[in-house]
Amino acid sequence: MSLKIKIQQTKKMDKKSVQQGFAMDIVKQGQTPFYYYDLDVLRATLSAINRQIQGWPFTVHYAVKANGNRRILSEICNHGLGADLVSGGEVEAALEAGFKAEDMTFSGVGKTDWEIRLALEHGVGCFNVESIPELEVINQLAGEMSAIAPIAIRVNPDIDAHTHKYITTGTAANKFGIGIEVLDQVVKHAIELPHIHLRGLHFHIGSQITQMQPFVMLCDTINELQARYERQGIAFEMINVGGGLGIDYNSPDAHPLPDMEHYFGTYKEHLNIGHNQHIHFELGRSIVGQCGSLITRVVFVKENRDKKFIIVDAGMTDLIRPALYEAHHEIQNLTAPTSGQEEPYDVVGPVCESSDVFAHDRMLPATHRGDLLAIRSAGAYGESMASTYNMRSLPESVFTE
Ligand SMILES: *Cc1c(COP(=O)(O)O)cnc(C)c1O
Repeated sequence: MSLKIKIQQTKKMDKKSVQQGFAMDIVKQGQTPFYYYDLDVLRATLSAINRQIQGWPFTVHYAVKANGNRRILSEICNHGLGADLVSGGEVEAALEAGFKAEDMTFSGVGKTDWEIRLALEHGVGCFNVESIPELEVINQLAGEMSAIAPIAIRVNPDIDAHTHKYITTGTAANKFGIGIEVLDQVVKHAIELPHIHLRGLHFHIGSQITQMQPFVMLCDTINELQARYERQGIAFEMINVGGGLGIDYNSPDAHPLPDMEHYFGTYKEHLNIGHNQHIHFELGRSIVGQCGSLITRVVFVKENRDKKFIIVDAGMTDLIRPALYEAHHEIQNLTAPTSGQEEPYDVVGPVCESSDVFAHDRMLPATHRGDLLAIRSAGAYGESMASTYNMRSLPESVFTE
């Protein structure tokens, strides 16, 4: 089957052309659903980041778990970013895509022995260590390999980023990081261990954070901690502030790029950066979220007594965020004329789960069997969280050139 999709082309990132509708003109051999990636949006985002960090001791690591697609990794690597990884598989994927091991950080609460060894063998730049047992094991495995493991201690700063409960990571109630009350002890222990090189502290307070206030609170906490350690004669060569910057899921055309100036500006203004100190960032969603859409075809339009359902061929297996976090994604009918009356539809997938719903009571133009829909802002945590539940096949990926 050959399927031709035409949407207006958005080449420029200026607001006007973007609002005319998002853009593509692709010919696709094969089947829906598929992920569609606009590499211009990705590149514009990466350039915006590079503009903001220029002249500052800032390094940005891309959080590969947001989207590990090979083509996307290469593009990000080519723009000079490092990689933040949470599994051995991601370490391998990042190496294959061309990231240098020294530009990698390895995070995660449950690193297994083979993953730690893999990272040590290749010489990853930093392990973000989340517990005392992990610290001991890394020290032991590094010792067996006659290596020194560079690490940062992940601190749980007990800051509530006021985001969804499944994506809040920086409060005392969740599994991530080491509590501030035991930090002194862990820092001293790390300094004493023979096969550990303590580079600094790591933080990551949550995801889809759209207000700068939690980041300001994070800066305050880091400043206090650094001052405290300075008094004890301990200086850190780097501080990793994590990621978590959100994107505008409600208006992807008005805001195809997150406000990188505001985000990095917050750290420039509020974080006390030590002498010769490096600040690391780990952004995932904000880099890849807006460049991707999930393109799906309407299988049936079904009317119940007081509801109309659009049943599409994409499901929660292809984009789980609405089912998992009740996340909002804009939906566009690419086939229907843009003028004309809209009516409310529930847009649902074919998977045998009641949570397989993309939108409730969404206003859309009159929609018919065969229409193509774009589920927007699907670049982050879409493809990377896809599954084959119901023995569905994984969608393909299509790119603009
Ligand atoms: C997931 C994750 C990130 C990236 O989060 P985003 O919200 O996608 O920016 C960064 N650091 C760590 C440790 C993570 O687990």
